[in-house]
Amino acid sequence: FDITNLDIPEQVLRFYLDSGIEELYPPQVEAIEKGLLDGNNLLAAIPTASGKTLLAELAMLKAISSGGKALYIVPLRALASEKFERFRSFSSINIKSGGVRVGISTGDFESKDERLGFNDIIVATSEKTDSLLRNETSWMQDITTIVVDEVHLLDSANRGPTLEVTLTKLMKLNPGCQIIALSATVGNAYEIADWLKGKLVLSEWRPTRLQEGVYLNGNINFHGSQKRIEARAKDEAVNVVLDTLEEGGQCLVFESSRKNSVSFAKRAGTKVAETLDEPTRKALDELVEGIIENGETEAANELAKCVRNGTAFHHAGLNSAHRRIVEDGFRANKIKVISSTPTLAAGLNLPARRVIIRSYRRYDPNYGMQPIPVLDYKQMAGRAGRPHLDPYGESVLIAKSYNEMTGLFDNYIDADAEDIWSKLGSENALRTHILSTIVNGFATTREGLLEFIEATFFAHQNDTWGIMDVVDECLYFLRNHGMLEGEGTLLPTVLGRLVSTLYIDPLSGAYIVDGLKKAKAENITDMTLLHLICKTPDMRQLYMRSSDYEVINDIIMARSDEFVEIPPRSKEVDYEWFMAEVKTALLVEDWINEKSLDQITKKFNVGEGDVHAFADIAEWLMHATSRLSGLIAPEMSQDISNHVALLEKRIHYGASSDLIELVSIRGIGRVRARKLYDSGLKTVQAIRNSDISTVSELIGPKTARKLFEELAISSGLRPSGSEDGIKSRTMS
Ligand code: ADP
Repeated sequence: FDITNLDIPEQVLRFYLDSGIEELYPPQVEAIEKGLLDGNNLLAAIPTASGKTLLAELAMLKAISSGGKALYIVPLRALASEKFERFRSFSSINIKSGGVRVGISTGDFESKDERLGFNDIIVATSEKTDSLLRNETSWMQDITTIVVDEVHLLDSANRGPTLEVTLTKLMKLNPGCQIIALSATVGNAYEIADWLKGKLVLSEWRPTRLQEGVYLNGNINFHGSQKRIEARAKDEAVNVVLDTLEEGGQCLVFESSRKNSVSFAKRAGTKVAETLDEPTRKALDELVEGIIENGETEAANELAKCVRNGTAFHHAGLNSAHRRIVEDGFRANKIKVISSTPTLAAGLNLPARRVIIRSYRRYDPNYGMQPIPVLDYKQMAGRAGRPHLDPYGESVLIAKSYNEMTGLFDNYIDADAEDIWSKLGSENALRTHILSTIVNGFATTREGLLEFIEATFFAHQNDTWGIMDVVDECLYFLRNHGMLEGEGTLLPTVLGRLVSTLYIDPLSGAYIVDGLKKAKAENITDMTLLHLICKTPDMRQLYMRSSDYEVINDIIMARSDEFVEIPPRSKEVDYEWFMAEVKTALLVEDWINEKSLDQITKKFNVGEGDVHAFADIAEWLMHATSRLSGLIAPEMSQDISNHVALLEKRIHYGASSDLIELVSIRGIGRVRARKLYDSGLKTVQAIRNSDISTVSELIGPKTARKLFEELAISSGLRPSGSEDGIKSRTMS
């Protein structure tokens, strides 16, 4: 099927021909035949790298050429950036004056982002889309084309319900809108397609052949063939890696935990290093410099050591600079091996010749080590083979016995992926979505609410009478906590509206309001407020390790009057939770007291990326606390409100209060600000009054120069558009 036969604008056709796309892949042809370009809804359940994104692009561009607007929903922020970068290349397509405009929504949750509406394509995560709907962003109604990437995540307990409710709302809001859903191949794809009233394109076709095999005793066994692997190292997976490199390929290795991914990268590194040529070594040394420059912890040194050897580890504990260096270094074929946790499989587009799945078990807090679902296996294996670059891709599971090997063939390689199931049925999932559904006027009565629920994927799969009790419990909770009022009708209160637009769980809202009312101004410390937000279900919690119990217990004893509530007694079950909350609050406390990242990561046994993630969530919740304190102001002390507002800033910058003025200058982080402050340059004015050589000595000549430029801009000495020299608050 030649793309010149497509019913798309000439400009769009030329764009693709210029980028070397001439013919459609078979599943793409099927999508066209099923009405992709005629505005039909469609679910494309096909493997990664089989051209799903291209389908979405064609439909979006066609719609835009006739005045439409597209929303592209992704599950992760990293994916949002990836898609945004890709779609930006459409700016040269002149299907409308000025070319196609693309925007990305990554700002605070409590915002409308009205300006984003000027774009033709808007990329956003499902949470952000939900939040834009809650804030009644006006351009949402102008959307004509919705793309939902990775729609099989409807099955995820923590993200699925949001995606499901968001889609239901969008379908109600824009009934004529075209929906294009993209999915991995799951068992019941037809069911999702049915729910979306769309045609289904289901295919296992791939542009690059994928061979799935199992390694046992020196051989990789495929269906009908076998490959001998030379034994050069003790570790069998390392031998498979070396074999891949010898054939000129790269390797992705999936491990069950972060710790294992680090130790594998180290172990493989000593052997991989022996295979590197001189130019590659030089290129790797450059990457190492970047890692050291962007790292404040010992973990950064570990990563640097691996990368010098041509290997790397990748997991959510890395900071974003390191993650990027590793990903780009791998794409550029400088880094030969990445060993990662399974999260990478769901995220980025990082294919490799060979994928090794070293562990098909994963730790589950309730059941111990458990085999992963087939879907997860398929997602990992599917990363093998770079389209147009590798002649084929191979995925390799590792078995220890013949029995295990046949089990792996039966249960993974030859198995079909599981069905996916809506997770909307629980009170925890429903509470927040019921509130927002009412606040945004999608339902005004209990009957209306039922009608709304009837339109969800949950109702498509289940009889709804089963969740009526849960719905009523949620309504009771919301009424009881002053978020809803009215008998026959369901009316949101001011508090209910605020909780919905702040994008917090109503249970978090209730905890915070209650805590603020109880708090006594004279007893309040940073810990009081930090513990309050760490107690909410929206906060991510640190795990308790056995070595923590004594330490945390002592801290709770010593600081017991700092909490708004009396700590539970140590024999009670709740005490376990309480300790985890306090431990989490202690991490944030260290962060705002300027403890170094190296100290924090060691003390709490987390990565730099985790510290930033905790700080991000804490900042958002402290912002919510600040807004809620404004609402209940008459019932509490003004001192508390001020304290909360200051903490929000301190969490943003990771700094003590005395530094807030200095860290607000763009380009000045907490470490440099502290150096300036301790040398007597305590305010912006003091820096202005000093000279650049003094400042250079403290923070280096490059940053000093930038700092003075920045200050010149903010004092209006130099004209410069909207730049005001003050960093903007964003969630990203
Ligand atoms: P997916 O979204 O399924 O992972 P993409 O749409 O990103 O896959 O496609 C993967 C790669 O294949 C991209 O580089 C894309 O440009 C290329 N591609 C997609 N469709 C075609 C085609 N019909 N012919 C040639 N290359 C294609």
